Amino acid sequence: MTPLICTNALIDETLAILKVAGSRGSEGIALWLARRSDDDTVQVVEVLEPLHRAAVDFFHIPPEGMSALMKHLRKTRTKLVAQVHSHPANAFHSQADDEWAIARHEGALSFVIPYFARSTNSSTFLDQAALFRLSAQDQWLEVQRAQFSQHVVIP
Ligand SMILES: [Zn+2]
Repeated sequence: MTPLICTNALIDETLAILKVAGSRGSEGIALWLARRSDDDTVQVVEVLEPLHRAAVDFFHIPPEGMSALMKHLRKTRTKLVAQVHSHPANAFHSQADDEWAIARHEGALSFVIPYFARSTNSSTFLDQAALFRLSAQDQWLEVQRAQFSQHVVIP
């Protein structure tokens, strides 16, 4: 598998979305859109906050948010490779997170950032995030921190 490459600037953009949501007392959600480069690396090129509803303990993307997302992916020729959302306290994948995940293909990544990303920045992102990966059996499995670099690289 090829790890995603995501720049510090795009991590900052991701965290800004989560922090704004957190300041309203709400979970935040950001999507990573990527393109495969000529050298076969997968580069995150855009962070998108989808049309969604959220509260302190959930987020949900309504059908119109999903269709706007699909339209945007076609227009920009990008793929949804990861979702990043925040939790009010500990980072884990809830049953709702499993069921409502937007990224649905094998190898899709789901990052969960604790404490509404209040104390997270681009240099602590990988230390504080919990990471889950969708298996071939359509199950979200937690990735051990020691294996993060197989899936994501922040150059
Ligand atoms: Zn969650």
